[in-house]
Amino acid sequence: MTRSVLLLPGDGIGPEIVSEAEKVLHRVNELFNLGLVFDTALVGGAAIDATGEPLPAITLDKARKADAILLGAVGGPKWDALEMARRPEKGLLGLRSNLELFANLRPAILYPQLASASSLKPEVVSGLDILIVRELTGGIYFGQPRGVRTLENGERQGYNTYVYSESEIRRIGRVAFEAAQARNGKLCSVDKANVLEVTVLWREIMEELAKDYPDVELSHMYVDNAAMQLVRAPKQFDVIVTGNMFGDILSDEAAMLTGSIGMLPSASLNAQKLGMYEPCHGSAPDIAGQGIANPLATILSAAMMLRYSLAEEAAAQAIEQAVSKVLDQGLRTADIMSEGAERVNTRDMGEAVVAALQA
Ligand code: NAD
Repeated sequence: MTRSVLLLPGDGIGPEIVSEAEKVLHRVNELFNLGLVFDTALVGGAAIDATGEPLPAITLDKARKADAILLGAVGGPKWDALEMARRPEKGLLGLRSNLELFANLRPAILYPQLASASSLKPEVVSGLDILIVRELTGGIYFGQPRGVRTLENGERQGYNTYVYSESEIRRIGRVAFEAAQARNGKLCSVDKANVLEVTVLWREIMEELAKDYPDVELSHMYVDNAAMQLVRAPKQFDVIVTGNMFGDILSDEAAMLTGSIGMLPSASLNAQKLGMYEPCHGSAPDIAGQGIANPLATILSAAMMLRYSLAEEAAAQAIEQAVSKVLDQGLRTADIMSEGAERVNTRDMGEAVVAALQA
């Protein structure tokens, strides 16, 4: 059986980091006999330059047919002056909405080798391993009506609508409960049920779902407290589930606990487990073309792809272990460099991971 993986390198450092992840995927393909076949397509600024569109029809078509998608990053100053609808980011949003990628999974893992990169004390963060499950296609970012209107008194008023239907809450809830089952069995649902009715419903549905997952311990936390607890005692969490806007903010906060954005993968899944996998960082135009970007977030995204969309847990773990091994060897790209370590470029890091892979 073959499975198809679509590579979308995108812009800036995207092509540099995706190329290293591709080498890693080719190697695990051989080692574990995965039957993966690869294709590539344009998205973002690169697609605008070639076709005038951030998400050409052929890219969307290939994405729909693929078993999994690995994306680098999109965007950059070259396209910043374009109108909103034609910006590179629209390519990414178009993929998310067309493929109904409603579940965003963002692990925040602190490798013990990098404990000093965090701005928190090592004892607070060392061994940190949490997963944030963020609803990605609903909530206030998409709710209607929205806009800026002029009131009768002539004053302008901006407004958005925070809305979630039961089915939207239930499907993201199930993803989170299942993720907690596969981890340490603890799920914290984050809401603002003391103020917002939509999250009163969110809390009710989570309670209902909990009956189907007796092996998962469900707790609830208000978002303001969750933001505080993440920096006070982040290791109390296993899996966090929350809506689009709270998840946007909390996942960036959790990401920074680990000290380097160059290490953090993410997954966006739909109901059929088709997923788009990408590093949490952007296209880093400031270092693009220099060959110094950290490819590990993209390589770890490839590991998530094997785990969540292709059901190849052993191959996923092999990649994660290889990454840990190169860190043990003291290899560091500039963003995670520390005293006494050996500074390497993007390609050296990718090749070191390939060399460290074992079946
Ligand atoms: P960014 O994540 O691209 O960069 C922030 C800082 O982190 C920069 O100093 C950069 O050099 C550094 N950095 C990021 N990834 C790195 C890596 N792998 N190795 C080493 N250093 C790394 O964020 P930004 O500067 O705010 O955005 C730049 C562009 O990326 C913008 O056009 C933005 O819209 C876009 N963006 C895209 C995505 C995406 O494609 N998912 C996400 C965020 C931002």
